Amino acid sequence: MSRKIQIYNTLTKQKENFNPIVQNHVGMYVCGPTVYGDPHLGHARPGITFDIVFRYFNHCKYNVRYVRNITDAGHLENDADEGEDKISKKARLEQLEPMEIVQFYTLRYHKAMQALNCLASSIEPRATGHIIEQIEMVKQILKNGFAYEINGSVYLDVNKYNKTYPYGILSGRNIEDTLEGTRELDGQSEKKSPVDFAIWKKASPEHITRWPSPWGEGFPGWHMECSAMSEKYLGKTFDIHGGGLDLVFPHHEAEIAQSNACNNCSPVNYWMHNNMITVDGKKMGKSLGNFITLEEFFTGNHSKLEKSYSPMTIRFFILQAHYRSTIDFGNEALQGAEKGVSKLMSAMETLQKIVPSKSSTYNVSELESKCYSAMDDDFNTPILIAHLFDGVRIINSVKDGKESLSSSDLEKLKTLFNTFVTDILGLISAKNNTSNDLTNEVMDLVLKLRDNAKSSKDFTTADLIRE
Ligand code: ZN
Repeated sequence: MSRKIQIYNTLTKQKENFNPIVQNHVGMYVCGPTVYGDPHLGHARPGITFDIVFRYFNHCKYNVRYVRNITDAGHLENDADEGEDKISKKARLEQLEPMEIVQFYTLRYHKAMQALNCLASSIEPRATGHIIEQIEMVKQILKNGFAYEINGSVYLDVNKYNKTYPYGILSGRNIEDTLEGTRELDGQSEKKSPVDFAIWKKASPEHITRWPSPWGEGFPGWHMECSAMSEKYLGKTFDIHGGGLDLVFPHHEAEIAQSNACNNCSPVNYWMHNNMITVDGKKMGKSLGNFITLEEFFTGNHSKLEKSYSPMTIRFFILQAHYRSTIDFGNEALQGAEKGVSKLMSAMETLQKIVPSKSSTYNVSELESKCYSAMDDDFNTPILIAHLFDGVRIINSVKDGKESLSSSDLEKLKTLFNTFVTDILGLISAKNNTSNDLTNEVMDLVLKLRDNAKSSKDFTTADLIRE
């Protein structure tokens, strides 16, 4: 199946036909979480957005290598070159090893992504596992003359870089714009210019996560990990790089600069960015009191939430908006999504019970081609969902005897729903998504059986169950 898939490219600001570097292969890199806190809505959106891209390319018979990293070092508090390492700070406050923090929140992240039915990535590299690759890249950038070392730190020389490569091509922010937005740190900065950014940073005595390097003990700059790991697993130039819109500047702009400065080539052909999430119209933030973790959504345990919302409700709600639009989370909208997803799921159950007629009053092939067109048009899930609800209407009309489907059309409609709802949108019935609850129920049952065996003095059975 060779489909024309159009992708909106943040770099060129237009939709383009997707042309892979290697035929039938897709290399996709997505910036993953910095693992120092519980996963929240801000993790769900890129998780689900790029899960759809991954699933759709897979469905279209591409071989996809989907790389999503875990940031476990180098991400400083204010997303710039100053401040404490986010993970080290958490470790210091909780008196744990930084790697305990990393392990704990990586597992929580996986659990939340699994609940949302996001497929695992092909490779999940960690920044701390690729220090050598990052050091090699810094060495090459220095050798190429686009960086300078000062007091054990290495900075990318943005003014010098800009003489050879245009700086700011992704974000549209040139050096003057960037200078305006940069706070001059009382002349204390050792950088030649405030626009320069660290690609290697000297570790202060209290900085815990540190490695030896040709410039002394330190740690890589935050942007460096993605450049080094994407190159290692996908090559110097690869197909798709994704992430949240908030990463365009400085993170992705810096990645472009690092790759050009190191390899003299642009790293990515298609830049894709999902838009942001607001809660009651406001940006989500710990200080705003509207910061809600995914677990709080699933349990309903937060003062802003009227009830709990299942992972599939959250997934459906996110997919009801195009990934490039903003989404506002509110109870009313979520309850609407809850109704929508249950309508879709019960229609799929009804579909299994429908008896075919001799002829059809509905054109299933036309519906199918509309569904594909929606996905080919920059992964337009809200349009796809609208078409699927046309199908839901037909299913219910056939059930009520107002419309009819031939047996071949009925089979086609079943395939269509399985393909688009289950495989591509990744929406599954709650009954299939409670493996943990089910395990707990089975364990309760087993324990009850053991109690019964004990009370009827059947100790052989009781011992067997205990084992
Ligand atoms: Zn990144």
